[in-house]
Amino acid sequence: NLTNRFAQVVKTLRGQARLTEDNIADMLREVRMALLEADVALPVVKELIARIKEKALGQEVVGSLTPGQALVGVVQDELAAIMGGAQSGLNFATQPPAVMLMAGLQGAGKTTTVGKLAKYLKEKHRKKVLTVSCDVYRPAAIAQLETVTGQAGAEFFPSSSDQKPVDIALAAIDYAKRHYFDVLLVDTAGRITIDEQMMAEIKQLQTSIKPIETLFVVDAMLGQDAVNTARAFNEALSLTGVVLTKLDGDSRGGAALSVRHVTGAPIKFTGVGEKLTGLDEFHPDRMASRILGMGDILSLVEEARTAVDEKAARDLADKLRKGKGFDLNDFKDQMAQMRKMGGLSSLMDKMPAQIAQAASQMQAGAPEKAMARVEGIINSMTPAERSNPDLIKASRKRRIAAGAGVQVQEVNRLLNQFEQMQKMMKQFSGGGMAKLMRSMGG
Ligand code: GDP
Ligand code: MG
Repeated sequence: NLTNRFAQVVKTLRGQARLTEDNIADMLREVRMALLEADVALPVVKELIARIKEKALGQEVVGSLTPGQALVGVVQDELAAIMGGAQSGLNFATQPPAVMLMAGLQGAGKTTTVGKLAKYLKEKHRKKVLTVSCDVYRPAAIAQLETVTGQAGAEFFPSSSDQKPVDIALAAIDYAKRHYFDVLLVDTAGRITIDEQMMAEIKQLQTSIKPIETLFVVDAMLGQDAVNTARAFNEALSLTGVVLTKLDGDSRGGAALSVRHVTGAPIKFTGVGEKLTGLDEFHPDRMASRILGMGDILSLVEEARTAVDEKAARDLADKLRKGKGFDLNDFKDQMAQMRKMGGLSSLMDKMPAQIAQAASQMQAGAPEKAMARVEGIINSMTPAERSNPDLIKASRKRRIAAGAGVQVQEVNRLLNQFEQMQKMMKQFSGGGMAKLMRSMGG
């Protein structure tokens, strides 16, 4: 990944006072290659490289930063900038209901995203949400929306396949007004590929219902094709935002860079997994760190906050911020929370690569089963042992192993790997980016 490539070049740059055309040439070549590998569109790569070069050239290398470290900082800033810089939320500033129209190809994740958004709007913004399906081509699609809306705890406005999409949407708006809904989410049909009829239909829908948000939903796994689709939709409709789905499958994030660049519309959310909890607000700076291979501890904490006990999550966030140790008590809580959040895979994706690796070593084999064993071991420890694992000497290890019904070696393995993980948590907390860059410079 980019981090490894950078680490290499950073070494060669050490000891030089400033960034020059010469000493950044190698580094930029690496950046370029890594971006292309991450599926970023060529014109976007070119512009990024030009911007990085311009910013980096002649930049004073301040304080303890070496040129290589300084360049990583510039790359991170420019990656975030090309994805829009600041986080961009939904617009509600209209006479209710705030109508939000979904657009995108079939299978992009529109219906799932409506369910996720309904849940998010209800829980995070306390909105009264109505959903409606204008997908008159597939009766199953209407039923699917009804199901996810029910799961989200929102209300569903029924429609049927013998109606016209515009009529359905207008009737739903009327109903939403009379029943004081804050938001109406309008799901639409998509084709396998872009075609004239689909574009004409959604254009007409946009003109008739004048949504405050038109969200383009796109599958991040499509890579380059995501960019072409985005361009076509952006030409037909005025998009107010993008939802990038299936980011669980494409942790490279290349599509995020390109889609924003070609549409000019901000990415507002990312989707991970099929569960309704799998929707995250999009933060360009965090995505930039993730692309650079640093993982995304803050998003993780945020996800924990919505899925679980708020206080526990706040305490953990505080600990991380203060750079204080992460102990086995936290680890135990984390595991319980992971289960509530729908398993490991969506979480692993967000962890810094090294932590994810340590975690997966701990759970060789079926992750959920191994997690239960690890939890069993931790449960057999006393609270004092959990907060100070150094206490755990041979006799305590035997007691713990017996309590959990495992071999002593398994207890040892857990303790060793926990120690590694703790070190990494320390490294990523507190100083964050700056600390990591320092460690990359050696
Ligand atoms: P639509 O045709 O645009 O309405 O797409 P759907 O919402 O029906 O989603 C198509 C498929 O993708 C379904 O199997 C969803 O469960 C799945 N899906 C949607 N969003 C995500 C996501 O963020 N991650 C993953 N892994 N699957 C998703
Ligand atoms: Mg659908």
